[in-house]
Amino acid sequence: SAGTPQLRKAVAAKLERDNGIKVSPEQVIVSCGAKQSVYNSMQVLLDPGDEVILVAPYWMTYTEQIRLAGGTPVVVHADAADGFLPDYQKIKDAVTPRTKAILINSPSNPTGAVWPRETIKQVAALALRHGLWIVTDEIYEKLIYGGTTHVSIASLSGEVADRTITINGCSKTYSMTGWRIGYAAAPLPVAKAMSNLQDQVTSNPTTFAQMGAIVALQLPSESVESMRSEFEARRDLIVRLLREIPGVSLEAPHGAFYVLPSFAGVLSGKIRTDFDLADYLLEKVHVATIPGAVFEAPGHLRLSYATSRADIERGVARIAEALQQLPT
Ligand code: PLP
Repeated sequence: SAGTPQLRKAVAAKLERDNGIKVSPEQVIVSCGAKQSVYNSMQVLLDPGDEVILVAPYWMTYTEQIRLAGGTPVVVHADAADGFLPDYQKIKDAVTPRTKAILINSPSNPTGAVWPRETIKQVAALALRHGLWIVTDEIYEKLIYGGTTHVSIASLSGEVADRTITINGCSKTYSMTGWRIGYAAAPLPVAKAMSNLQDQVTSNPTTFAQMGAIVALQLPSESVESMRSEFEARRDLIVRLLREIPGVSLEAPHGAFYVLPSFAGVLSGKIRTDFDLADYLLEKVHVATIPGAVFEAPGHLRLSYATSRADIERGVARIAEALQQLPT
């Protein structure tokens, strides 16, 4: 139920090679997507009333999964002006006697923020000081731009690794979203609990998808690099085009494949909120966006650039055109 021995071995080898994390195959739990790995983590770590600190704007699955496990999300806010980078002081101030874990998602969905090494080190020290767990979702690790580096918190020391669940998967790096293969690496007792839980919920991830994942994890890095560099060109394109629209502002994100621009400068009249604007763009010019409020980023819209440059150009041109005709 925790995955085939071959894939667990391939994941352990990948974590050592790419992330500097030393784990045995027994510490690896393969799941039906990283989403299930996050779910398993919350279910095994949390007791009712336990608090989990996370940084907004966040992937909304996290807060729901924390609640499903009886926990309470404690949200600290990152500022658009800082490129949505987390403020360590706010994380530190959010710790209470009920804090059980800190959740890291770097690079982030929806902001594309990549946490600096210094912040990661500070959070690790904080977790050790208070005996907290660290859950780190690193699914966008390979999609980083502008020479930024990804730091896996579990690589900092054995002590930190003993408090950390590292989550990753094949959906983003290899575009294998529909295959549903994610994984977690955790200290042995936690890994065993996750395996026991999963055994009663979904049994095992699909066997032939696991065989595909073994091949993916062993692909030469150039095969991922060509996709990464194309994403970087798309990021540069979408950021440039959006900045040309009056009333729209954003910092260039350093990872993942989303931008979260502020549209606060155009909200007025009948289009007062990001929800109104997302509906308007969908109906008027058939451009799908996600209202920022669902990530606790009101006034923003999330746009994905996991699409061709031609579609990015067409989509942003349509947004610009629609904004010129906003109903009053
Ligand atoms: N983690 C983050 C931050 C994501 O954005 C997503 C997908 O959108 C996932 C996990 C889900 O990954 P998977 O397809 O492996 O369940």
